[in-house]
Amino acid sequence: MKIRSFVLVAIIGLASPACAQTPRPQGKAPAARVKNVIIMIADGAGFNHFAATDRYREGMPVETHRLSYPVALAVSTFPSGGSYDPDAAWRDPATLKKGATDSAAAATALSCGIKTRNGYLGVGPDGKPATHLMELAETLGKATGVVSTVPFSHATPAGFVVHDSERNDYSAIAEQMIQNSLTDVIIGCQHPEYDDNGKPREKPAFKYMDEPLWRSIQAGEAGSATDADHNGVQDDAWALVQDRAEFQRLAKGPAPKRLLGVPKVAATLQQRRRSVREKAVDEEPFETPLIQTVPTLSEMSLAALNVLDDDPDGFVLMIEGGAPDWASHNSESARMIEEMTDFNNAVDAVLLWVQEHSDWKETLLVVTADHETGFLTAKVEGMPNPSPAFAPVSRGKGKLPAMQWNSGKHTNSLVPFFARGAGSERFTQAATGRHPTGMPYLDNTSIPKVIRGLLIPGEGIAP
Ligand SMILES: [Zn+2]
Repeated sequence: MKIRSFVLVAIIGLASPACAQTPRPQGKAPAARVKNVIIMIADGAGFNHFAATDRYREGMPVETHRLSYPVALAVSTFPSGGSYDPDAAWRDPATLKKGATDSAAAATALSCGIKTRNGYLGVGPDGKPATHLMELAETLGKATGVVSTVPFSHATPAGFVVHDSERNDYSAIAEQMIQNSLTDVIIGCQHPEYDDNGKPREKPAFKYMDEPLWRSIQAGEAGSATDADHNGVQDDAWALVQDRAEFQRLAKGPAPKRLLGVPKVAATLQQRRRSVREKAVDEEPFETPLIQTVPTLSEMSLAALNVLDDDPDGFVLMIEGGAPDWASHNSESARMIEEMTDFNNAVDAVLLWVQEHSDWKETLLVVTADHETGFLTAKVEGMPNPSPAFAPVSRGKGKLPAMQWNSGKHTNSLVPFFARGAGSERFTQAATGRHPTGMPYLDNTSIPKVIRGLLIPGEGIAP
């Protein structure tokens, strides 16, 4: 503690004279080196997914998210070889059905700052590995982590850690993440011994990781040949956490140096649980009781933060609400609202964590999506492909808003972007695109470039 205070004083002492000579744009203090970065991704969530959830929660069309962040922008998401034409999208919204990214290419864009092909994780269109934000953070001595409500070897968490041109290589990806990466926290579904209702299976199912890897995780041996804490010794085996109570306990107090969290459920925390109705599309939100034996995204996020903040060099953490996308592919309005509510709660928990355990001067929070799924709009009778500007209409607090799904797939729509904290104004500078409504947007590849410039002043600032 004393040593760290001294180092801090020394850095400020050195930095001050230089700062005094540097012209300050718009009278603002120069951006400090960012210590911690938290990137939260709602998979598949366009503006109307956020809007529908706000209307469900508030009972009126208030854009609560837009109001609570100093930086609120939009993001283009297309993969390599694609484009986003704001005027064409405005004239004919049906064009948004073409050229959409998948979660693999989008995660690669958000992590590596490059466009790549759909299905590619952490590699360029030529298949050559690109540098992940997490890898950069590791070279700076920081701790890193990924958290998801879907399998941890699924596209978004994997797209921040591995280099693989086949997103469906779940087992190989899990092997890379667990045995070869320097990641310090991995939390996500895919427990082989539980089903989608959180009930024990008669026979384990090894869809997302192979049995030998799971056995080595259980034995506390997995990861032991890596030096995740950069102390020169390759001895950093994973501590496995499975029970909800353990995740809850980990929100505070002593934490393992490396945490692998696998809740006792199969593919998703909640989205795939059996409906009380014949089909989940006919449900009201929360009509089917939630599985109580699995943690929430908030609980998993707080456990991750508690592990990562032990690193005095800071951390980079990606938190994904993975199942808004899964619900949206199925036009499951209620489940989409549930998943977005879980995501919003996690955002609130992270905001509070930063206030209580860190500081907006040293921590940057980014909240965004990887792409839109389902072409969600207001209910517009007799009009296929209405403009996304028609937002879901409130039918009162706690009621499903009036909305319609115009696709079962991803679209090339702009998605929301919010930021708060250290350096967040840099994203506004990077938002050089203009939607016909006047809304500024940046490309998804600019996000990690801006963050890189905040982690290493003088580098990667220009989007
Ligand atoms: Zn999807």
